[in-house]
Amino acid sequence: MQADDRADVERIRQELHDILQVLSEITSLPSNWSGTVHLVGDAGFKGQKPFNCDILLDAALVSDGLRWRTLLHEALHALSRGYVREDFENFRGWEEGPVEKLQRLLRPVVLTRLGITVDESMFRAADERHLYNRYLAVLEELQRATGIPERQFYVDLLSTPIKDRSMGIYVLSSQMPRKQRQAFLLIFSKANSVLKGDIRWSLQPIRSNGENGSSA
Ligand SMILES: [Zn+2]
Repeated sequence: MQADDRADVERIRQELHDILQVLSEITSLPSNWSGTVHLVGDAGFKGQKPFNCDILLDAALVSDGLRWRTLLHEALHALSRGYVREDFENFRGWEEGPVEKLQRLLRPVVLTRLGITVDESMFRAADERHLYNRYLAVLEELQRATGIPERQFYVDLLSTPIKDRSMGIYVLSSQMPRKQRQAFLLIFSKANSVLKGDIRWSLQPIRSNGENGSSA
């Protein structure tokens, strides 16, 4: 490894450390990050959080302002409860959706806290063409139907083990008056079918050797 690469790895490691400190404070969730960062050449992804809890970043992004959205996204996976392969694969959208939504919701406050100035419009262009927007659309409908405030809804999801998230939302219906419950359950069942591990919507196939986890 070149000295420049080592300096880049150390800088990104520090950036992730700082992001996670702020995110942990905001969400009251502890981090599972191993503390290890790998910069990957010709990555084919922007960021990745394997199940060993290292964080991978496309080496081409190390000096690109867009890396902040990727680092935030991967850092949020590190706060997620129940982040294990089988549950992730069975409930992919229940993980990627809340993570990506919180990346967008918390980005301005985290970057401000870190004293980072990046043009939000650059991020928005990347947000608008993001593959996980399909998950976000159904989650946003579901959040509105529950009446739970936006940030709380997604932080609650992240705090719940991945495999229990779907049921955690479903049981909210038991508190609702009959008419509201019927409408809610329709929204829920559509959302759940989109959010449950439909591999066609993943960015790339899961390798059978199992080293790679979520991508951003
Ligand atoms: Zn992800």
